[in-house]
Amino acid sequence: MSLNNVIDLRSDTMTVPTPAMREAMAAAEVGDDVFGEDPTVNTLQEMAAERMGMEAGLFVSSGTMGNLVAMLTHCRRGDEIIMGRQSHTFAHERGGYAAVGGIHSCQIDNQPDGTLALDDIAAAMRSEDDHHPTTRLINLENTHNAMGGVALTPTYTRQVVEFAHARGIRVHIDGARIFNAAVALGVEVRELVAGADSVTFCLSKGLSAPVGSVLCGSKAFINEARKNRKLVGGGMRQAGVLAAAGIIALEQMVERLAEDHAHARLLAESIAQTPGLQVDLTRVQTNMVYFDVSPDLPFDAAELCRRAAHHRVKMLDVGARRIRAVTHCWITREDVIEAGQAIRQIVVSG
Ligand SMILES: *Cc1c(COP(=O)(O)O)cnc(C)c1O
Repeated sequence: MSLNNVIDLRSDTMTVPTPAMREAMAAAEVGDDVFGEDPTVNTLQEMAAERMGMEAGLFVSSGTMGNLVAMLTHCRRGDEIIMGRQSHTFAHERGGYAAVGGIHSCQIDNQPDGTLALDDIAAAMRSEDDHHPTTRLINLENTHNAMGGVALTPTYTRQVVEFAHARGIRVHIDGARIFNAAVALGVEVRELVAGADSVTFCLSKGLSAPVGSVLCGSKAFINEARKNRKLVGGGMRQAGVLAAAGIIALEQMVERLAEDHAHARLLAESIAQTPGLQVDLTRVQTNMVYFDVSPDLPFDAAELCRRAAHHRVKMLDVGARRIRAVTHCWITREDVIEAGQAIRQIVVSG
């Protein structure tokens, strides 16, 4: 079933709460969460921590807030975070860690598989020197959005964690879509964050909740993080009405992500067969399809998206010749078939 008769592939943030979520939201038991007295928020936080194999969780309003609070908690002013140049945190979070926290960052290129090469991390490490900022944190992203929604493996993450901990550095995982990674790799999500010091994941994307993310870590870390959440204005009150949807998201919306992945693959294969469009199928591992519009075609990415919208298909142009299409629970198999046909028709008719 598509929403408002539009096949909206711009983002999995277009998902709206399911009927079960709306029911749970209406019935949610609530209290003042700043006093720690919202039972529904507490339940969600415990569930999230349990899934991540960590001690505690903290409900935050967004992935951006979760990442910011994590960085404020791990780092002091003048500390440095090593992160990917193509990471969401570097590119799309308003530089909050610098703006709010006075925290510096060192960007290194992401590899095509979304990872940061260990050699590059080693080269970015600061030596003990009065001139240098202090390397404090490594930030990984799983799935890696800009690199195609690719999934980082447990083996890779463990390597980074071992490298970091041997040097007294911490690891945060921006796991906005970490459940997509777990489903794609057929592993438990806790394996993907094993040993990491913190993780943020979004309830509001493929998991279809209307609002919210959870930051997880040790008890001591979350106690400090709660203060930083307050600092950035994230202390919400009867937030149980939102957390109730998050609980349904974790209970009912995780395993079905496999469907979104199958739909993305179907769409990608259709696009790959359309002359003038290029898609790297090896990177279509989860619910994202990034593809390129050949310079030989008489229109660019923005124009192709405009024309697709006339066929009731919405996509996002993310570069002059690059387009992103994302599948989610409101997109059916018929929808992606129709979208693939519409794209082909636009390209063929020039
Ligand atoms: C969406 C996203 C975020 C931020 O989440 P919001 O809830 O939109 O603030 C962080 N990291 C990645 C990789 C994302 O895709």
